[in-house]
Amino acid sequence: MNNDTLEKAVIERKGQIDQSFRDSVATINAQGKRNFLFPKKPKGKLYNLRTLATVVYLAVFFSLPFIKVDGEPLFLFNVLERKFIFFGQIFWPQDFFIFAIGFLTFTVFVIVFTVVFGRVFCGWACPQTIFMEMIFRKIEYWLDGDSQAQKRLKAMAWNAYKIRKRAIKISVFYAISFLIANFFLAYLVGMDRVEEMVVDGVAKHYVTFASLISFTTIFFLVFYWFREQACLVVCPYGRLQGVLLDKKSMVVAYDYGRGEPRGKLKKAELDLSQGDCIDCFACVRVCPTGIDIRNGTQLECVNCTACIDACDDIMTKINKPLGLIRIDSEENIATGKKNKFNWRVAAYSTVLVALLGFLTFLILSRKDVDATVVRAAGQIYQTQPDGRLSNLYSIKLANKTRKDLPITLKVENMDGEIAVVGNALHVGPESYLQTPFFVKIDPGQLGRRKTKIMIGVYQGHKRITTAETTFMGPGN
Ligand code: SF4
Ligand code: SF4
Repeated sequence: MNNDTLEKAVIERKGQIDQSFRDSVATINAQGKRNFLFPKKPKGKLYNLRTLATVVYLAVFFSLPFIKVDGEPLFLFNVLERKFIFFGQIFWPQDFFIFAIGFLTFTVFVIVFTVVFGRVFCGWACPQTIFMEMIFRKIEYWLDGDSQAQKRLKAMAWNAYKIRKRAIKISVFYAISFLIANFFLAYLVGMDRVEEMVVDGVAKHYVTFASLISFTTIFFLVFYWFREQACLVVCPYGRLQGVLLDKKSMVVAYDYGRGEPRGKLKKAELDLSQGDCIDCFACVRVCPTGIDIRNGTQLECVNCTACIDACDDIMTKINKPLGLIRIDSEENIATGKKNKFNWRVAAYSTVLVALLGFLTFLILSRKDVDATVVRAAGQIYQTQPDGRLSNLYSIKLANKTRKDLPITLKVENMDGEIAVVGNALHVGPESYLQTPFFVKIDPGQLGRRKTKIMIGVYQGHKRITTAETTFMGPGN
């Protein structure tokens, strides 16, 4: 099917749908007030898989702050003190270019990933969805029951039962928000600071404690009250879907070719021209953003796949093939093709792997010590009593680690002696040092007036970096 035909099929399809769903948002009622959603508890293969993925996700989230490399956290995002650690590597403001290139690479990665795989990140890896749907929502089902029970509780007049129910839910939600906030804070300031606060008491760490309570309250409000609105009105990634997705992107999609014309089961049994959709609304009832995916891809869909499970359950019950709602591209749905892995997916995936490789390279190739060597301005060579020539240099060292670094220098590409002026080179943790030094070289090794020399910077026997400069001689 060429693009024109595909376009026609999509337009024709849109013509068949009652577009009035675009006039309202499921989470706002006719009076313009918030319409709280009570999605039915999902069940099915994909939901089980998401539960498994969540267990792994949470295990990683809660264990990373405890992992240390050389006494430093594996990850730290201390924005206020401008300290960043990725995979145990400390990044300084001087590493800004790595951030800039890394950020650009990451942006391209997100775009390419979304173009191919749609919003799978939102449903399966975004912390907001994971915490909301797989922790807080599960607890809500456990405490307040399924959708109908929750609706009844909301509609109920305030009485002792409702007050008790609400008090329990608020306490549990706040306690879990507090736990998450502790770990969130650990990613910002390090687990050591959080533990210090616990051991020393909050009076000594009132700023950290105030941040903790603020984060807890924000998380509580988001998961207790704001919920899906975070995805619908706040998340910039969600707002970008309209421009990132195209007809080949993999999304949660309803197969209208197979499902339409929809109709109640009784009618469908008699009428063979009826589509497979029995208009049971099971897919709508489980949707955490309250949409009807049968209207087509919508901005509100976070690709949580709950509607796929719900519809597969119905298809099993009525003896029809699964996958009336499935992960597929708009093009495949329009053309009836089945292939999900085409050259485009392969090519874009290769680009994604290359970008990831580049990002990893950027992080791993970063040096712990920056060394800049410059020859003293306006100075030429001096002849030493032993006949060797000497040049005066200045070295600027930045120690990005949190360890003391005793440094030695060595001429790498020829025989030469280095004499540091003053004390031995010793750079304190996270600090700079600038000091002059002489390089003495036998004139027999120098060919031209200016000779390139390499200065190796050593910590013990380990060369940590090499700086390039020139040595002035008499020349020919
Ligand atoms: S339409 Fe389906 S995949 Fe999208 S948010 Fe609703 S339930 Fe989840
Ligand atoms: S769950 Fe399946 S059969 Fe029921 S309304 Fe949704 S698409 Fe139709």
